[in-house]
Amino acid sequence: MNVSFSVFRFNPETGEEPHFDEFEVLAREGMTVMDGLLYILDNMDQTLSFRFACREGVCGSCAMFINGSYRLACQTQIKDLKSSKLEVQPLPNFPIIKDLVVDLEAFFEKVEKVMPFLKTVSAPPEKERLQTQHDRHRIDEVIDCILCAACQSACPQGWTDKDFLGPAALIKAYRFIGDSRDEAGKERLKLVMGEDGVWRCHSVFNCVEACPKKINQTIAISSLKRKAVAQKLKFWQR
Ligand code: SF4
Repeated sequence: MNVSFSVFRFNPETGEEPHFDEFEVLAREGMTVMDGLLYILDNMDQTLSFRFACREGVCGSCAMFINGSYRLACQTQIKDLKSSKLEVQPLPNFPIIKDLVVDLEAFFEKVEKVMPFLKTVSAPPEKERLQTQHDRHRIDEVIDCILCAACQSACPQGWTDKDFLGPAALIKAYRFIGDSRDEAGKERLKLVMGEDGVWRCHSVFNCVEACPKKINQTIAISSLKRKAVAQKLKFWQR
């Protein structure tokens, strides 16, 4: 089947207006949107820019806005889109570096703010800090986050409030607060209770719809809100 790729193009360095370029691609069985973009790059236009790395849904680099939905290009089979016309755009609401490549620097700075790593104060054990299966199970869902930034792109609060930590950073905080081996829960909770944290989330659920890993960020953020209230109550009761 011949598929028409309509691909967003923009190079801020040339001063050319943003536009779409059309490419006709013969889609073979099993071809993904990423395969199609690679075909265009190799055979039709070597100036096309897009990010990819693992090509198996793990690195999160190829999150794009495809036919009006957030998707990983490497995990999206062309035949599943049930259309001979594909419109491929970069993640909305991020500055565009070129074509389908967006600037994620501010996104990763927000994730760094919540200390996305295990932090301990107790003396290290002889071998390693162990975790029971039950404790691991409590963070199973959020640990699947691949930092693709689709949720941040879809979040209406983030569209107008550039300082809002956003769903990805907040669930990263939730993931480490919920990790039985971590000992910096209170410190991390304080970070997400601030002006740009959990209370800015209005539970619109756009992030849940956008997430290619089917993580329910809104539920995780609600849980952080409950923890934040419990923490405040303890403070007031002192
Ligand atoms: Fe991507 Fe989902 Fe992680 Fe958000 S929560 S960064 S949408 S994988």
